[in-house]
Amino acid sequence: MTYRPVPDYHMHTPRCNHAIGDVADYTAAAIKAGLKEIGMSDHSPMPDDYDKPWRMDRTELAGYLDEVEQARDAVKNNLALRVGLEADFHPGTEAYVKEMIASYDWDYVIGSVHYIGDWGFDNPDTIDVWDSWNIEDAYCAYFKLVEQSAQTGLFDIIGHPDLIKKFGHRPPADSARVNEAIESMLQAVKQADVVLEISSAGLRKPVAEIYPHRNIVKRAAELGIPFSYGSDAHSPAEVGHGMDDCLSMLKSFGVHEVASFEKRVRSMVVIEHV
Ligand code: ZN
Ligand code: FE
Ligand code: FE
Ligand code: ZN
Repeated sequence: MTYRPVPDYHMHTPRCNHAIGDVADYTAAAIKAGLKEIGMSDHSPMPDDYDKPWRMDRTELAGYLDEVEQARDAVKNNLALRVGLEADFHPGTEAYVKEMIASYDWDYVIGSVHYIGDWGFDNPDTIDVWDSWNIEDAYCAYFKLVEQSAQTGLFDIIGHPDLIKKFGHRPPADSARVNEAIESMLQAVKQADVVLEISSAGLRKPVAEIYPHRNIVKRAAELGIPFSYGSDAHSPAEVGHGMDDCLSMLKSFGVHEVASFEKRVRSMVVIEHV
């Protein structure tokens, strides 16, 4: 099964220091996979004291945009290539992010939470910090941040919406406060009219599961929250990875279209089996 018209909106470049491949390699991989639209969303610049090694420097933005423009020209008859960013939501950095987003006509901006306070909870190097956390507390803190990220109005898409599960730390399934935190986050996403990303990246991580959990997808579908698909490719070989699994899950909950963006204007495309 392939779903050709569905865009893959989450992929990186070596500017973030943990991805490989030129933009042209990503477009070639996309065409080979039968995709019709993709978007680059490299880790955006942030203030200098925030997570610097894992993202492009502000001075690299122009080169990023140039490279995408050239690649776009080269494939224009076969593939639509959008350009966006994966920006971080971290309280205190909103003004910087707002100014940076305003500096260019992006097709979309993904907002992702990678930190609780100064803890990069998805970083394998600081995995032992988990030992000092109650898992329910960590989940509640995480979903609260995701909720706040939606409320900023800065982002079009909420990236990998339950990244907190990456290494397989799980609260009890019946944890009332975690379930309340998830519900509250989804209500905020609905209210802010932002898109939730369904991401195959979790399939490649210890948790071995799509982001977000099927219960979150189910509830978001009930609320009528729109979805976009992202592979979170950090190498060209990952473009379109797990798309069938993600879209099957959406369809199982009655979701038959996904979001497409151009210059931050959203439209919906029907998920079409080919
Ligand atoms: Zn990354
Ligand atoms: Fe991310
Ligand atoms: Fe990413
Ligand atoms: Zn990501």
